[in-house]
Amino acid sequence: MIKNLVILGSTGSIGLQALDIVRKFNINVLALSAKSNINLLENQIREFKPEYAVVFNDEKAYELQSKVRDLSVKILTGLDGLCEIASIKECDIVLNALSGMIGLKPTLSALGSGNDVALANKETLVVGGELVADCAKKNNTKIFPVDSEHCAVFQSLQGCPDKGQIKNLILTASGGPFFGKSQKDLENVMPEQALNHPNWRMGPKISVDSATMMNKGLEIIEAAYLFDIGEDKIKVLIHRESIVHSMVEYTDGSVIAQLAVPDMRIPIQYAFSYPDRLESCANFLNLAGKSLTFHKPEDSLSECMNLCRRAIRMGGSEPVILNAANEEAVRLFLKGKIRFTEISQIVKSAMMSVSKFEITGFDDIINADKATREYVGKIDV
Ligand code: NDP
Ligand code: MG
Repeated sequence: MIKNLVILGSTGSIGLQALDIVRKFNINVLALSAKSNINLLENQIREFKPEYAVVFNDEKAYELQSKVRDLSVKILTGLDGLCEIASIKECDIVLNALSGMIGLKPTLSALGSGNDVALANKETLVVGGELVADCAKKNNTKIFPVDSEHCAVFQSLQGCPDKGQIKNLILTASGGPFFGKSQKDLENVMPEQALNHPNWRMGPKISVDSATMMNKGLEIIEAAYLFDIGEDKIKVLIHRESIVHSMVEYTDGSVIAQLAVPDMRIPIQYAFSYPDRLESCANFLNLAGKSLTFHKPEDSLSECMNLCRRAIRMGGSEPVILNAANEEAVRLFLKGKIRFTEISQIVKSAMMSVSKFEITGFDDIINADKATREYVGKIDV
């Protein structure tokens, strides 16, 4: 089990669940961070006594500074602050639980300064997969997947001596809250309905992504980079029960899967304790009397997944454009400015209209991201 931890995004859904594990195993927290939720962050600082805390928002950072004057914690701000805590030397692992592509630079800072990363922030790999993989390789650092499907694949790959023996990775998908609904029903979906996932309690962005099935598409890209495998070998099966978290199909016909109750503390803890398995705070799985069902995703829910497959096949700036358009469209939907069904339309339109180029470094990613957000900002909604 790790001893020293940095958490990026400690006030979110993954961050809070990670702190349950911190409590159980008495892990030393070196740094915590939030975007603007300083009330929760202050409580966390008082409980876990980190050396550093980052508040992304400058004004909120000053407010927090005055609230914790009685403590020795150093308050940092912005992306520079996140990168600084991601590269703290005494750290055993950095948990990246930020939401959105803002997580890319801190991931690169962590890996580049010799720290391993427990990665929940899938957008990091969607926009910067090659850059991140190269950075980990050059610095001999590791990425432990926290996303439940990728942790399941990671576990199902233990003992695989040669990638050539993998026939397919099979990612499971719950189908989200709108499974079985017609296109017509989807047009009138409200943000509260999209946020109400049947099996998982998650932050707002990923909840909407699950409802559009963009989440599964982003996970196909994430898996392609994490496991260095072609998109054509990554299949998706709808599995409403969220018990089989993903599988690996081998060339000899064997399929190895990981099963557990749907509780993110299991994959987070595995990233912290790898290769050991320690008692969990989550419930144990009782399969008696349970049925497990699987089927192919219906066409009506496959649009966003297909856009993701197209983006990774095209390569270059295409996945960055897809991600930025999706982040902006989800934001507009949550603000009530666009309909649920317009999310995929906006992503598609950005992928058709924003100019594409090769990605040779970090700045290219930032440029493609910026151009796409500007494009979405100009769409008449
Ligand atoms: P939340 O929205 O619940 O939490 C996000 C965290 O990051 C919060 O601490 C938030 O601070 C902070 N944050 C958000 N935006 C910024 C920003 N621009 N700058 C700095 N900090 C920021 O997200 P989740 O915990 O649900 O998800 C985190 C990541 O994990 C996502 O990439 C998601 O796809 C992935 N993931 C999540 C799962 C889940 O079960 N929740 C499952 C699998 C993957 P504040 O609270 O102040 O807003
Ligand atoms: Mg997942």
